[in-house]
Amino acid sequence: MLQSLTIDHVGIAVKSIDDSLKFWATGLGAETSHREEVASQKVIVAFLDTGQGKTELLEPTSPDSPIARFIDKKGEGIHHIAYRTPNLASTMSRLIEDGARLIYDKPQPGSHGTQINFVHPASAGGVLVELVEYPTREELS
Ligand code: ZN
Repeated sequence: MLQSLTIDHVGIAVKSIDDSLKFWATGLGAETSHREEVASQKVIVAFLDTGQGKTELLEPTSPDSPIARFIDKKGEGIHHIAYRTPNLASTMSRLIEDGARLIYDKPQPGSHGTQINFVHPASAGGVLVELVEYPTREELS
């Protein structure tokens, strides 16, 4: 069982991080704490400092990025909710044993040096759930 399931971030698909920041940063006053290209997901991400549960803006870097495909189908909007796990491999095995469908067979490199995977919405009540394991258990942000 996961101990104290914590929301790491909410991921929002956007066409342009710079355009989106006019609302999130200028309008709402959120600080951008981190920006990084995540090659495995073909996106640039910007993290907004919105407390323990951060806000992640994801901008596609390629038309075959999962985020580009999401925006094509559904438009900009909430893409996933990410939860921290202390041990991604063991969480993945437990979910697979339970019959859940994961997006990747193996953990993928995420931002901040994390390892990530996603649970398919069909196995998670219609929500794309990201699982995030940080390289250490300490807060890195
Ligand atoms: Zn994310």
